[in-house]
Amino acid sequence: MGKVWFVGAGPGAPDLITVRGARLLSEAGAILYTGSLVAKTVLEWAPEGCEIADSKSMDLQQVTAWLLERAQRHETVVRLQTGDPTLYGVLAELARPLDEAGIPVGIVSGVSSAMASAAAAGECLTLPEVTQTVIFTRLSGRTQMPERESFASLAAHQCTLCIFLSIERIQAVADHLIAAGWQAGAPVVVVHKATWPDEELVLRGTLQDIAERCREAKVERQALILVSPALGARARTATQPSKLYDAAFPRRFRPARPSGAATD
Ligand code: SAH
Repeated sequence: MGKVWFVGAGPGAPDLITVRGARLLSEAGAILYTGSLVAKTVLEWAPEGCEIADSKSMDLQQVTAWLLERAQRHETVVRLQTGDPTLYGVLAELARPLDEAGIPVGIVSGVSSAMASAAAAGECLTLPEVTQTVIFTRLSGRTQMPERESFASLAAHQCTLCIFLSIERIQAVADHLIAAGWQAGAPVVVVHKATWPDEELVLRGTLQDIAERCREAKVERQALILVSPALGARARTATQPSKLYDAAFPRRFRPARPSGAATD
C-alpha cells in the first residue's frame, strides 16, 4: 500500500514549490491537482508515465475514491494543493477516509499566496512598533464564518489582514474596514495570481477606490487582498529599526555591543 502526500504547490511559479514537494512529484505514481488553481507548470516535475488527473470537476467523494484507489497501486500518490495545504483547503475531509482505511498520509508545506502576494508587492507583513500580528481570514461565503471571528471584530485590531477568497466582494471588505475604524484613504494591495508566469498583477489603491480599480482591471478571482499599517513602509523614513539588528540588542550568536560601537 502506498502513501498519500498532500503537497503544497506554492502560489503558481513552478520553482516556488519546496524541494521536498518537487521530489515527491518526481517520484509519484499518481498526481491529483486542482486545474483551476494550481499552475500546470508545477506538473513539470512529474515523471513520465505518471497518472495525472484534474479534480476540478470531481466532488469530494470522487476525490476520496480516486486517492483511495491509487494508493492501492502506487507507492507515492500526491494530492497537489495550491499554496500551503493547511490553509483553506479540504485536507481534513480528504485525510479522514484515508486514516480510516489505514493509508498513511503526509503533509508538505507550501508557500502560501499570502506570503507570495506580499513578496510580489515588495511589502512586509510585519513592521517593528507598527504591527506585529497577521490575521489570515476571509469574508463569509458558502463557508460561514464562526460568529466569534466576525470580519468586523478582526478588522478592529488594525493589524495586518491577509484576506483570502473574498475578491468578488472587495467593496464589502472595504466597507467593513472603514466601519471598523480604518481611514478611507488607507492603502490596500490586491495581488492577482501572485507569481504565475506572465499573469501576476499587483493593484494598489485605497479603501475608497480599490473596488473600482479591481473592476477596471477585471480582477474578479484568484486574488489576495492585503491591508496593513505596514503597507508602503519602504517609502517612509521614520519607521523604527528592528531590534534584531540593533547593535545593543544581544542575540544568541552575537553579543551586545555598547551603543555607538562599530557594527559589522
Ligand atoms: N492554500 C492556499 C489558499 C487556497 S484558497 C494558500 O495557502 O494560498 C484560494 C484563495 O487563495 C483564492 O481565493 C485567493 O484569495 C488566494 N490565492 C491562491 N493562489 C493565489 C495567487 N497565486 N495569488 C493571489 N491569491 C491567491
